Amino acid sequence: MDIQSQTAEDLEAQFRAWGQPAYRVAQLLEWLYVHRAANWEAMTNLPRALRDELRKQYSLTALELIRKQGARDTTQKFLWRLTDQALIESVLIPANPALYGEASDRHTLCVSTQVGCAYGCKFCASGLKGWKRNLRVEEIVGQVLAVERWNEDESKVQSPKSKVQSQERGAESQNPESSLEDHASRITHHVSPSLQPRLVSNLVIMGMGEPLANYENLLKALRILNAPWGGGIGARKITISTSGLAPQIRKLAEESLQFRLAVSLHGATDATRDKIMPVNRKYPLRELTAACEYYQQNRRRMITFEYVLIAGVNDGLDQVKPLATLAQRLNAKVNLIPYNQVEGLPWERPTEEAQEAFLKALEKQKVSATLRREKGGDIDAACGQLRLKTERELAKVKVPSEAREHP
Ligand code: SAH
Ligand code: SF4
Repeated sequence: MDIQSQTAEDLEAQFRAWGQPAYRVAQLLEWLYVHRAANWEAMTNLPRALRDELRKQYSLTALELIRKQGARDTTQKFLWRLTDQALIESVLIPANPALYGEASDRHTLCVSTQVGCAYGCKFCASGLKGWKRNLRVEEIVGQVLAVERWNEDESKVQSPKSKVQSQERGAESQNPESSLEDHASRITHHVSPSLQPRLVSNLVIMGMGEPLANYENLLKALRILNAPWGGGIGARKITISTSGLAPQIRKLAEESLQFRLAVSLHGATDATRDKIMPVNRKYPLRELTAACEYYQQNRRRMITFEYVLIAGVNDGLDQVKPLATLAQRLNAKVNLIPYNQVEGLPWERPTEEAQEAFLKALEKQKVSATLRREKGGDIDAACGQLRLKTERELAKVKVPSEAREHP
């Protein structure tokens, strides 16, 4: 068991069994989620005997950064290696990239939930090599911690002042009286006298993998990332994207935490969806939209339809009317995303004129819609591509014919 897969309640029960006072749990959580400690040795205010006990009972693993793409204050992609050598990605997106020359302090992190993906959407890099395994709770939580650790290290390099800040943080946590509530209020307010604001304020579960196919681990990870003693990220700032697993959408509707839901539609008729998303054969639109309706009624939350525009596949204006009908029925807004080309796949993004025409036609139907207008910007490509590229590069060294595996 990894310590980063444990909730405060799990730890309280264990500490009680050990005869440890409750404030020790608060201290431990502070080390994990405020200081983002990557080893037991750092936890200097925990008695050595307790640290040894913890080390015996739990692992404390940190993701290993092996590649990063993109410059600071822009969208950045992180490629991580897991303990079994599998590769996953996270993408960090600033809220206002370098707006007015100021670096943004609010960031959205796009996290992965599986190694590969079993759903095999025809246009997607993540599903190209099939599914390897589900991510464990700590590997989902660990993406946020690792990015924040990285950011802290970077700012130490950039300004020696922050070194003093992290020493102050250490001093602050020497106080054995710090209660879970103190700790919680420090985190929920995102700032304490000696702490910088937290880097990641929003999460989108849109990285590699189908989140709802790893339901239990995802939900436990999100409870930890949402908790005031943990990541402190509000449930409304967490968006789960699914390719359309209808039964799990219904299950999600019954959870106590109100996450936002994004549904990858990419086609407004079964004929169009069938062409690119095999999942549509299992849960066709009628079933999917009924589940969305259930979610929307239970949660009273707006759903987002994601619609990746692919030239000649789903960008025809014949899709606009059925899309508008669905969006109106479910009170959903539509997020149009120009397709990012994947090396080795034949699909292409439509021209800008075609993208704008699709948007205008939707708006004419009184649908609330947005179009992502970034130009080129390969870095903004959906997750899965950096991993694919890296694996291909590695394979080229070993097996030169690997690149021919996919059409
Ligand atoms: N499996 C989930 C979440 C991960 S994919 C899902 O499918 O919703 C996140 C989003 O990226 C999905 O909407 C997916 O369709 C989209 N996507 C995948 N490959 C893409 C590409 N090459 N260009 C643009 N969007 C892509
Ligand atoms: Fe899997 Fe989502 Fe990619 Fe489809 S789009 S293959 S569900 S990651």
